Amino acid sequence: MSSPDGPAPDGLRAVDVLTVTAVTDVTPSVRRVLLTGSPDAVAAAGPTVNLLVPRVGDDAPRWPRIQRDGRIVWPEGSHGIALRSYTARRQDPAAGELEIDFVLHGDGPAAAWAGAARPGALLGVAGAASLAERPARWVLMVGDETALPAITRLLAAADPATTGVAYLEVAGPEEEQPLAAPPGVAVHWLHRDGTPPGESTLLVDAVAGLDRPETDDLFAWVGAESAAVRAIRADLRGRWGLSRAQHHAIGYWRRGRAMSPAG
Ligand SMILES: Cc1cc2nc3c(=O)[nH]c(=O)nc-3n(C[C@H](O)[C@H](O)[C@H](O)COP(=O)(O)OP(=O)(O)OC[C@H]3O[C@@H](n4cnc5c(N)ncnc54)[C@H](O)[C@@H]3O)c2cc1C
Repeated sequence: MSSPDGPAPDGLRAVDVLTVTAVTDVTPSVRRVLLTGSPDAVAAAGPTVNLLVPRVGDDAPRWPRIQRDGRIVWPEGSHGIALRSYTARRQDPAAGELEIDFVLHGDGPAAAWAGAARPGALLGVAGAASLAERPARWVLMVGDETALPAITRLLAAADPATTGVAYLEVAGPEEEQPLAAPPGVAVHWLHRDGTPPGESTLLVDAVAGLDRPETDDLFAWVGAESAAVRAIRADLRGRWGLSRAQHHAIGYWRRGRAMSPAG
């Protein structure tokens, strides 16, 4: 299902609404949700996508609308819709299909929605953005489960001659996923082995133990819990001396804090 054509006279347009058609558990804590929509809606929903997540069981959500400048206009009163950032792991506009991997972390409106998702459930889309990558001969990819969809896309799209290192933090071997990477990129899975997500220093330590490569044609991409990302960003800017154009490091979630309140 997609939005009606064009904005209304007040300049507000409806959000695109996608419908769940299949749900698969790819690992014990990652649920893949296949959504369908019009080709235009699917093409516009990624790679990074702002999802409008209804309350579990809400079959007729009171969606917000979108202003010409992209700002969200929320309906008055309680609507129970949460705005959360996710990654379109796969987008196929021609088939009208979009896949999102949700980490079932046990708390929060988006994880709860994914945990209860069934065919026919609805999800809104309120804008999208790039993954902020820059092609380079040497890449560093650092992320936890939440960034695995983004890193999967980035490595799949990388030039086959790309070299580099990827550090991927997951709970354990059962959470590893097949990853197509250029042969020159060394992929290291790091296991928390019982340490709760957001409390491990695996990614920070791995980067701290890595020497900067000789080349300046390099790019570091980092997505994980915010405190870990802050430490890695400081290391890459300080010890490695990376310029802003040479790295993108953003917190994908915050330990102990919701990304934004549900309305
Ligand atoms: C650009 C971008 C792309 C993202 N892509 C994805 C993606 O493709 N798949 C994905 O699963 N996530 C992705 N995330 C992360 C996701 O947005 C957050 O995990 C978000 O907090 C989930 O919302 P929620 O409603 O489930 O929990 P919230 O209401 O935000 O938080 C509730 C509680 O859950 C905790 N929490 C949140 N996330 C986790 C976690 N992963 N592990 C343990 N505890 C957690 C919080 O600390 C808080 O205490 C992305 C984030 C960004 C910024």
